[in-house]
Amino acid sequence: MDRKQFLASLALLPLTATAMKLNDLKKLSQSMERTGTMPVLFIGHGSPMNGIEHNEFTDGWKAMAATMPKPNAILCISAHWETNGTYVTGMAKPKTIHDFGGFPQQLYDVQYPAPGSPELAKEVQGDITETSVGLDDKWGLDHGTWSVVKQMYPDASIPVIQLSLDYGQSAQSQYNLAKELAPLRQKGILIIGSGNMVHNLRAVDWSGKTQGFDWAIEANEIFKKLIAGNEHQQLINYQKLGSAIGLAIPTPEHYLPLLYVLGLKNGDETATFFNDKMMMGSLSMTSVKIS
Ligand code: ZN
Repeated sequence: MDRKQFLASLALLPLTATAMKLNDLKKLSQSMERTGTMPVLFIGHGSPMNGIEHNEFTDGWKAMAATMPKPNAILCISAHWETNGTYVTGMAKPKTIHDFGGFPQQLYDVQYPAPGSPELAKEVQGDITETSVGLDDKWGLDHGTWSVVKQMYPDASIPVIQLSLDYGQSAQSQYNLAKELAPLRQKGILIIGSGNMVHNLRAVDWSGKTQGFDWAIEANEIFKKLIAGNEHQQLINYQKLGSAIGLAIPTPEHYLPLLYVLGLKNGDETATFFNDKMMMGSLSMTSVKIS
């Protein structure tokens, strides 16, 4: 996309965001056909440039959005919001956060003016008993959220809130916490975990010649096999899964959003993979739909 096209696409976005209450959202959804339970997505988000580029991965996100009922609201667990304690964004108008460095100006110019939903934030706070959840009024939408959601729902009309990753909380506890969010799926809320299962920036092949190192491909295959086989306990205890997984998860923040998504899977549901591809040697874009 050149700059002219980019500015043209921005002009299509609404300039103001208003907080919508859940009651209004319910009315909006009355005309929608729905099967009852909203799918849950893990999205491999990759480079922030995916927020403005048009490529096979963004095509995959858009295609996935087209297969689902339009959500009443979106709750995103992003790799890029780690906090001391668990927080949910409670503001009516979340700001677009440009939490990266060294990218073209056009990426910093992006605004995704989706409204928040203070009412949904309070509901999330009330649903979770695994830990106490604070209401945040400072964060907003980081690129782990907007780069993906903007591609899926470009008109920014659906309210979006974020739930943080508490770096003091165990993987098991975060998986347990996610289960408490299950009732939201019956209310048309789309829950997205945004990270990357294989994410080792130190090992990245910047030449772009290597699609996937052997260990990265091995880790990707192990993840898919365990997800498809419902081996959640092994995925929670990922530190015991061997050296390829150790290289794939040098730090846990890009992996943990997957555990939230798996925690929301019912026994009779299946996991479907999409965007199943490695890039730059040490990153996987592999994404999962639970439905
Ligand atoms: Zn990231």
